[in-house]
Amino acid sequence: MIIAVDGFAATGKSTLAKMLSKHYEIPFVDSGALYRGITFFSIENDFIKGGELDQDALRTRLSEVKMKFDPQTGDLYLNDKNVAEKIRRAEVSEYVSTIAAVDFVRAFVLRELRQMGNQNGLIMDGRDVGTVVFPDADFKFFFNASPEVRAERRFEEITAKGQKITFDEVLQNLLIRDKTDSERDLAPLKKAEDAIEVDTSNLTINQVFGFLIRTIALK
Ligand code: C5P
Repeated sequence: MIIAVDGFAATGKSTLAKMLSKHYEIPFVDSGALYRGITFFSIENDFIKGGELDQDALRTRLSEVKMKFDPQTGDLYLNDKNVAEKIRRAEVSEYVSTIAAVDFVRAFVLRELRQMGNQNGLIMDGRDVGTVVFPDADFKFFFNASPEVRAERRFEEITAKGQKITFDEVLQNLLIRDKTDSERDLAPLKKAEDAIEVDTSNLTINQVFGFLIRTIALK
């Protein structure tokens, strides 16, 4: 069984996908983590200068990037180093959508993601899982929520980890990423025609979870 959970930033996709993964005992893959991993690699290697990505430099070095998830914790390893915390930093969030719009980056990540699908089943969250990565997924959900609710949730999450950021910085980052992700030419963020839309603005995590498992059971 393949379940695709797509949607806007900070709508609760990963949280719910992880809950479904536990419930159905099938692996969870956070596709955004791979785009974040490549962004972190680009920052570490100084491929971003003055806010601009040096595409040629990244293209030449991309084959060095080896990423895998720890099956127990879900932590991302980049060339054998645990980067789970680092890929959530504000600097990575700032550049990730620009890097995710680059054609050879998407081709690279797409290949990795499809390979992960060669198992018995999986739950993947992202932006183009139901439209491009697994267009034949058994279930497709598309998450949305009001920008304020999303920013509030993400703000709490980040500040709980001790990172310094303002509510407005979080909100702006979400809005800019949504715009870049929706407007790019390749695999833009959009609801698959056969996806079920879920607005999580006024629902608790458990309410969304209940809705998802009921929907899956009915099919
Ligand atoms: O899911 P998350 O917010 O961590 O994703 C970070 C970024 O990675 C997104 O804003 C988007 O630019 C990119 N992404 C993508 N396609 C996916 C998953 C993430 O373009 N399937």
